[in-house]
Amino acid sequence: MEHHPVDYKALTDALKTMTGGAVEINVLTRSILGREIPILTLGQGKRAVLYVGAHHGMESITSGVLLDFIADYIKQYERAATVYEYPIKYLFQERRIYIVPMLNPDGVEYAIHGVGAENPLRDRVIRMNGGEDFSHWQANARGVDLNHNYDAGFRAYKKKEAEAGITGGAPTRYSGEYPESEPETAALCRFLRLRRENIVGILTLHTQGEEIFCSCGDNLTAKTMSVGRVISRFTGYRLARPEGLAAFGGLTDWCIADLFRPAFTLECGKGENPLPPEQRPLIYERLRRILFSFPCIV
Ligand SMILES: [Zn+2]
Repeated sequence: MEHHPVDYKALTDALKTMTGGAVEINVLTRSILGREIPILTLGQGKRAVLYVGAHHGMESITSGVLLDFIADYIKQYERAATVYEYPIKYLFQERRIYIVPMLNPDGVEYAIHGVGAENPLRDRVIRMNGGEDFSHWQANARGVDLNHNYDAGFRAYKKKEAEAGITGGAPTRYSGEYPESEPETAALCRFLRLRRENIVGILTLHTQGEEIFCSCGDNLTAKTMSVGRVISRFTGYRLARPEGLAAFGGLTDWCIADLFRPAFTLECGKGENPLPPEQRPLIYERLRRILFSFPCIV
């Protein structure tokens, strides 16, 4: 099978094929450039988890992996199969999985297709980017790195950001003017706050390194540690601690520090970003068990 990078059209085309009783599709919000950001629901249980892909422009392979999971779940549901030790009907009735396959569609489009003449931000972002090659763009449409835009260690991060010479919109690592300043992060945080009672765990997919991050200062609970060890066992990925600029302002940090929920960043695959699309089935293979099991082990 030939693999292509997952752009926004590939995402929306794939979602059109995902019909039937197992899946519900809604819109989380619109991106800066007005693209609808889909959120899917698998299952009807009260206990819920959330999976998020493509915070970062050149990491849309994670959207592909989540689409593979959704298609797999629907197939297993229609066959009333047992997946690992869980009957899928049990998963469906007793658990709920929310999935945002592509939180940053504008950034994904920049990274795959560059910035077109019709883009109202074109001149500004070409300046931020230092040229027209956007293949390593990570931020959203206006140069805010969504995974540094959460309210977790934001002020400490601002200091480090200044030390690193980042003073405004950039292809990567600029955290924005204030936490949740971007429509993408604001909508996701609102969604999580509204469902705080029901959400029991969060997985965020990034690339690359085959590592699992779950720490935010010393807020790491015994529960988070033990779930982290199970994730490590199921995926073969290594449990690690983020260092330097990576350690602040991410969704995982915010979920642990603010929502008090076990949350994990999975750095999927191995190689150099952007990972070749051929890695998608290999990554899905490694993640399949945890994606099905997470709602039951967390
Ligand atoms: Zn990332």
